[in-house]
Amino acid sequence: MAKIPNRILLSEDEMPQSWYNVKADMKENHDPFINPQTMKPAKMEDLFPVFAEELCRQEFSTERYIPIPEEILNKYKMYRPAPLCRAYALEKLLDTPAHIYYKYEGQNTSGSHKLNSAIPQAYYNKAQGITSLTTETGAGQWGTALSMACAFYDLPLKVFMVKISAQQKPYRKAVMETYGAQVIPSPSMETAAGRAVLAADPNCNGSLGTAISEAVETAVTTPNCRYVLGSVLDQVVLHQSIIGLESKLQMEKVDEYPDIIIGCAGGGSNLGGLISAFMQDKLTGKRNPHFIAVEPKACPSMTRGKYAYDYCDTGHVTPMAKMYTLGAGFMPASIHAGGLRYHGMSPIVSKLYHDGALDEARAVYQNDVFDAAVLFAKTEAILPAPESAHAIRVAIDEAIRCKETGEAKTILFGLTGNGSFDLTAYQSYHENKMQNYEPTDEEIQKGFASLPKIPGIQ
Ligand SMILES: *Cc1c(COP(=O)(O)O)cnc(C)c1O
Repeated sequence: MAKIPNRILLSEDEMPQSWYNVKADMKENHDPFINPQTMKPAKMEDLFPVFAEELCRQEFSTERYIPIPEEILNKYKMYRPAPLCRAYALEKLLDTPAHIYYKYEGQNTSGSHKLNSAIPQAYYNKAQGITSLTTETGAGQWGTALSMACAFYDLPLKVFMVKISAQQKPYRKAVMETYGAQVIPSPSMETAAGRAVLAADPNCNGSLGTAISEAVETAVTTPNCRYVLGSVLDQVVLHQSIIGLESKLQMEKVDEYPDIIIGCAGGGSNLGGLISAFMQDKLTGKRNPHFIAVEPKACPSMTRGKYAYDYCDTGHVTPMAKMYTLGAGFMPASIHAGGLRYHGMSPIVSKLYHDGALDEARAVYQNDVFDAAVLFAKTEAILPAPESAHAIRVAIDEAIRCKETGEAKTILFGLTGNGSFDLTAYQSYHENKMQNYEPTDEEIQKGFASLPKIPGIQ
């Protein structure tokens, strides 16, 4: 057989024309969102003040395939299809019989997969006549992606950026401003939610949860403004399904199918998007790949969290979702993988994990992640984002295990982004200043204490 190329490409014409909604094939949907005002399951209309109506419909949809509007396809084609790469050099270095593939989503200016959902979210809001958007950003990739998408559709945007990330990544702000966004470090004095956090702790480094609260509050108090969220929601997993759909086509081209599929998990969107098309094969009994979610030891929502209803934000304005969570009150350590510092996990990913379809979750230490990141950068020539390096860590561990057992397994992992804006993190690693944070049981219990009480449910 001819040698498999380093980069397996698809043409624009081969790009999938529909998103795939894994909920259509799940044995059972995840539990419904709960409206915090009524404490009853949220109706679609309840979400209209917060999200664009078409996005609300997608949030509730159980249709198997949802066509991607041509306007969105045309934007996708500026940077997609994304390459699927065979990690020959890494395989050689590890001396493993495993075949290692990675899907690289870091080739657009935002540097991550997040643009895949930013574009449709901006598009549907614009189509509905919404005149401005707000959002939060942790590591900065989502804010950058949405700034780009808002520039495409001429929509003003306010970005609440987690303060520690704003300090660690000052150049992110410059990129967002280039695309016309206004960037506000969170917690801020602009909102009641931000002022409350600052009153309790004036030196608070911020968290994704607080930034979400500030963005949602701004959206609901600004006329004709909407909030958009870069992860967690079903609509985001749906948009990200393009990652797995493309990967599957690319693997088919070289006659491969993954035995192990690995993704890093922050809010679960790239993981959900990468695994969806393969999960369909598992749910319909065609194939049985082993799925692994990787999270930081510092923010272990799947490995140490509870499967419970929780708020998606610390300000308690979003609906409550049943998910693996550390509690919206959990304050994760300031690790460098800012995109993975989130207390909860996508309800879809949570349900798949709870039901055993998503096989495994693993938590890894920050220094081990950067060992893997540096090894990968040296061999495969891409400087990975710290979030993505969580998946690299486990891919390497699995490839080493293949060497030990002599099994030539096919491994696919999601390389969600590049690390060009994460140089502070790399610097700290090189100077041996990086710490392996891990919350104590007391800290975890404190987070659980913040879980909401819902009459008759929990
Ligand atoms: C945001 C981000 C993540 C984590 O978010 P998910 O919703 O869990 O995918 C992972 N990698 C990169 C590069 C990111 O920007």
